[in-house]
Amino acid sequence: MQLKGKTAIITGASRGIGRTIALSFAKAGANVIINYSSSDEAAQEVAREAMAYGVKAEVIKADVSNYLEAENLVDRVLNQYGSIDILVNNAGITKDNLLLRMNEDDFDKVVNTNLKGTFNFTKAVSKVMMKQRKGKIINIASVVGIIGNAGQSNYAAAKAGIIGFTKSVAKELGSRGITVNAIAPGFIETDMTAVLSDKVKEQFANAIPLKRPGNPEDVANAALFLASDYSDYITGQVINIDGGMVM
Ligand code: NAP
Repeated sequence: MQLKGKTAIITGASRGIGRTIALSFAKAGANVIINYSSSDEAAQEVAREAMAYGVKAEVIKADVSNYLEAENLVDRVLNQYGSIDILVNNAGITKDNLLLRMNEDDFDKVVNTNLKGTFNFTKAVSKVMMKQRKGKIINIASVVGIIGNAGQSNYAAAKAGIIGFTKSVAKELGSRGITVNAIAPGFIETDMTAVLSDKVKEQFANAIPLKRPGNPEDVANAALFLASDYSDYITGQVINIDGGMVM
């Protein structure tokens, strides 16, 4: 039980990668806070499945792009659990379009959810972790933030921003015993990628040396490593989980 007795906040944990990370942390013994924005029933189901591992689990609805909602969630968790050991900034959305067709609102929404959401939760949690003099922060970026992708300039900018943010905060918080790392998934089968056309899916599949799309467990395994003591001497890094797509 690598995470026995730890408390972890996972944003965007009602579905997809966040859901799988929350369940793998619960299986490893952590109490899990399942954040989400709209899927009430799906989030409750994740909590039920997590509790079956004998840990505490609760759902807290909050929009990651709103700083006050992030701060309230963190205060509530701290009051209830007494510490916050792990934060996974996973909540994310896409609103794809070519630059000339992309409207300002779609740019703002994607940056505010992915990048500002990561800032909001990291800032709120870092105060707690600094006092504890320990903590693990894991930010879910994307390989698109490294190589770019036509039709995703908003998303790529947000994910590249998360990588720069991760490295900067790792430098700021290292002396307080807090590690900050990013995971850059490639093409992972979730609701987010289910909407892509068969042609785009085929293009992705052809570009993957391991010749298969990733699944949420592939990403959750890396998150579990970064949340555990096994990664204590690793900070400011970006780990690609992409079947070799970007190397
Ligand atoms: P997903 O299946 O669409 O799930 C997204 C999750 O984020 C849901 O739980 C959703 O909650 C939550 N969420 C969205 N907006 C939110 C907000 N404003 N506040 C709080 N929660 C919010 O996506 P996914 O594929 O698992 O992606 C998870 C992360 O991995 C994202 O950061 C994504 O960018 C990144 N990623 C994914 C892939 C991929 O191929 N799938 C590749 C690279 C990176 P509701 O259910 O309540 O809407």
